[in-house]
Amino acid sequence: MTEESQRGFIHVYTGPGKGKTTAALGLALRATGANMKIHMVQFMKGRRYSEIDAIENIPNFTISQHGRDEFVSKENPEKIDIDLAREGFNYAKKIIEENRYDVVILDEINVAVDYNLIPLEDVIKLMQDKPEKLELVLTGRYAHPEIIKNADLVTEMLDIKHPFQKGILARKGIDY
Ligand code: ATP
Ligand code: MG
Repeated sequence: MTEESQRGFIHVYTGPGKGKTTAALGLALRATGANMKIHMVQFMKGRRYSEIDAIENIPNFTISQHGRDEFVSKENPEKIDIDLAREGFNYAKKIIEENRYDVVILDEINVAVDYNLIPLEDVIKLMQDKPEKLELVLTGRYAHPEIIKNADLVTEMLDIKHPFQKGILARKGIDY
């Protein structure tokens, strides 16, 4: 058994305030500095966010997107949204089982679970069966209590102030 401080932990970044995906990207950037290999799996995202262009220039850091550039309806998701999310989940499961990375980030997976695109039990099983040394990061609002229970490190972003409240829309390079 690996010593406690030697094993990889499970992080959850959740809550309504800004900074969840940014925190995961920051963690990944730092990890590249220690020669760690990172993959970010983005759920429910299909737009070319700036992190995709940024990551192209960073060694050992890759990203894949599994979603459309469309809003997903929580009440009535399209089949394509469910299919893409499950495809993303299966991909994540595969790279985790193959132990190909030191850090795997499941960006917005909490939302995909909350919208019933991915079954909660499958995510819990993935968390419980992860390779011991893997650092696993789950982001997104509405983290399920079971996901929180199975994590080692949980941070909830509070929304104290956001320019959106003054009608300022998302800005390239800062928000996307
Ligand atoms: P980021 O990707 O900037 O770290 P996030 O991952 O914490 O944000 P998400 O819930 O994934 O937040 O939402 C993504 C988008 O919504 C981003 O454009 C982000 O700036 C914006 N956003 C995040 N929090 C808020 C908020 N409290 N009010 C308005 N817009 C927000
Ligand atoms: Mg996010």
